Amino acid sequence: MAIIEVDGLTKSYGTLEVLKKMTFDVHKNDVVAVIGPSGSGKSTMLRSLVHLEEINGGSIRVSGEYLVQNGLYSKPGEIKRITSKMGMVFQHFNLFPHLTVKENLELAPKVVKGETGAEISRRSAELLEKVGLGGRASEYPSRLSGGQKQRVAIARALMMNPDILLFDEPTSALDPELTGEVLQVMKKLAEEHMTMIVVTHEMGFAREVANRVMFMDHGEIIESGHPEQLFTNPQFDRTKAFLNRSF
Ligand code: ADP
Ligand code: MG
Repeated sequence: MAIIEVDGLTKSYGTLEVLKKMTFDVHKNDVVAVIGPSGSGKSTMLRSLVHLEEINGGSIRVSGEYLVQNGLYSKPGEIKRITSKMGMVFQHFNLFPHLTVKENLELAPKVVKGETGAEISRRSAELLEKVGLGGRASEYPSRLSGGQKQRVAIARALMMNPDILLFDEPTSALDPELTGEVLQVMKKLAEEHMTMIVVTHEMGFAREVANRVMFMDHGEIIESGHPEQLFTNPQFDRTKAFLNRSF
């Protein structure tokens, strides 16, 4: 079953065409690692999926529903409902600094969903436990390390029971000694069959955890395949050049 179906996605900033007719699917339980040089359009692609950017053409379907079909967006109420099926984790955490950890987790479900406070409270406690921050519910983000902040951000994204999690370089802003604890949580989610798209420079993670790697360059998918195949036997010169250059 397809969770994400992208067909002919184009996106420009002014005259700069950043995404060029991207077409790909993400199926249930997939962990797709997206790699590629800086400026290749990885963030813009993720941001387009959750409607933080408006695309100029093509279609995006989420769990069978069109967010945008042939460049035509659904109604605002529909967009809200469809995008709430996706959870996003950003490089710089994007936690609300004036809210506690618990409040960060509970804000969106309280505003968006008609659930009771008790049910929301139960889930936030359970998810904090899951990311190893059971004792930190009343803490403010400023008191946490980068790795802890990112784990809060992951728990927050899970609060809405999303069909898919999108990660935009979740460990790039972290000190090297803190990346492991975040990757560990992501690995655990993958083992529990969470569907994920992960933009990352962590080739070890991509190789070990992803079941597909997608290489992007200049707004296009150059090559996509099983990690073992893509890393050991890339088919295209641009993929080879990127892999040789970086790692
Ligand atoms: P990546 O995440 O792969 O580094 P981005 O999606 O951030 O790439 O950027 C792709 C291209 O789009 C780059 O050339 C970048 O400069 C440009 N770009 C990104 N955001 C904007 C924006 N808001 N306005 C204009 N150009 C942008
Ligand atoms: Mg980026």
